[in-house]
Amino acid sequence: MIDFTLTDEQEELRRTVERFARETVAPVIGDLYERGEFPYEIVAKMGEMGLFGLPYPEVYGGMGGDYFALCLALEELARVDSSVAVTLEAGVSLGSMPIYRFGTDEQRAELLPRLLSGERLAAFGLTEPGGGTDVPGGMRTTARLDGDQWVINGSKCFITNSGTDITAFVTVTALTGDGEISTIIVPNGTPGFTVGKSYSKVGWSSSDTHELSFDEVTVPAANLVGERGRGYAQFLRILDEGRIAIAALSVGLAQGCVDECLRYVRERSAFGREIGRYQAIQFKIADMEVRAHTARLAYYAAAARLLAGQPFKKEASIAKLVASNAAMDNARDATQIFGGYGFMNEYAVGRFYRDAKILEVGEGTSEVQRMLIARALGMLSA
Ligand SMILES: Cc1cc2nc3c(=O)[nH]c(=O)nc-3n(C[C@H](O)[C@H](O)[C@H](O)COP(=O)(O)OP(=O)(O)OC[C@H]3O[C@@H](n4cnc5c(N)ncnc54)[C@H](O)[C@@H]3O)c2cc1C
Repeated sequence: MIDFTLTDEQEELRRTVERFARETVAPVIGDLYERGEFPYEIVAKMGEMGLFGLPYPEVYGGMGGDYFALCLALEELARVDSSVAVTLEAGVSLGSMPIYRFGTDEQRAELLPRLLSGERLAAFGLTEPGGGTDVPGGMRTTARLDGDQWVINGSKCFITNSGTDITAFVTVTALTGDGEISTIIVPNGTPGFTVGKSYSKVGWSSSDTHELSFDEVTVPAANLVGERGRGYAQFLRILDEGRIAIAALSVGLAQGCVDECLRYVRERSAFGREIGRYQAIQFKIADMEVRAHTARLAYYAAAARLLAGQPFKKEASIAKLVASNAAMDNARDATQIFGGYGFMNEYAVGRFYRDAKILEVGEGTSEVQRMLIARALGMLSA
């Protein structure tokens, strides 16, 4: 029998993060978002709560939980704010995970404790100006071995958490031979490694995103992550998991739209009655709840396969596709229900509207998810 009931421990985590989001994030995030400021204090508190260590073993300072625990936390954070949620998602799933999964014992012991405590962040540098979907085709960044040092040249774009005051390093994919892609750790502050200024973004305004450039950047040969030539395979694995996390974040945004609308339709009146009395509004909110609910089931199912050690690629793509659609549709409907106020930045739904779009793009576009699903069904590329 299938049972999606949360255990007591999972429910306690969910409630703790829900309370944190409501009491600590909600009161301050609107102002930070408008000013485009990174939420340092919130990140520090999430670190104290152990959120950056959720799916990692205690030996590295983690909480000994699993990837589903991370997803639950992301969902609850994104019900209130997605910049905060994606900062955690990118920190845990893109920053620390390559080191945990593919790093040497020395790299894990040296780098993970300060990442899992939230004291420092790491970033994941895959996308380049030449293309984020066709990664091998668009890759121009190179790394050559010169004695016992890698010398790196090239650039990356749209890299989350790469330029904060607490960013420790970026794991960079680079061509290390003909068609050979490897992953190398590049500490922030290394000579020749330049973090460009923050992008002006449509949404996720309190998250940290930069272009990076590398000009004869030299790091020790020991900064290679895992085997030489396995960089692309490593990042595909990281992205497969990451899609479940982005699906959870999308469900949070979709559910946050329902939360905000349920409050608003009881306060706002038109034609002598609360707008929540009109069936047209009730149906819209019912549809929003349906989308959040079904998308949640999709990411729970994908996470269940991941945790059980079963293949989960197709299910992760389905979850991300369904959940990002739910987030977009719910954000559009929620702003509509708020009328003109939905267009004002002081209301959370306006922020949700701006934050929803990237969910159809980041960690593989919706087209990529469809390609992966079609491939899993046995269909060949043109
Ligand atoms: C805010 C933000 C944060 C990000 N954070 C990170 C990060 O931390 N690390 C990182 O490495 N990257 C990051 N990215 C990059 C992100 O993953 C890419 O933007 C995304 O993968 C798409 O790549 P692209 O922008 O180059 O679009 P392109 O690959 O140029 O795609 C353009 C369009 O063509 C479509 N397309 C491409 N190929 C096909 C095809 N074969 N069939 C049909 N359609 C196709 C795409 O779906 C898309 O609609 C971030 C992006 C943003 C905006």
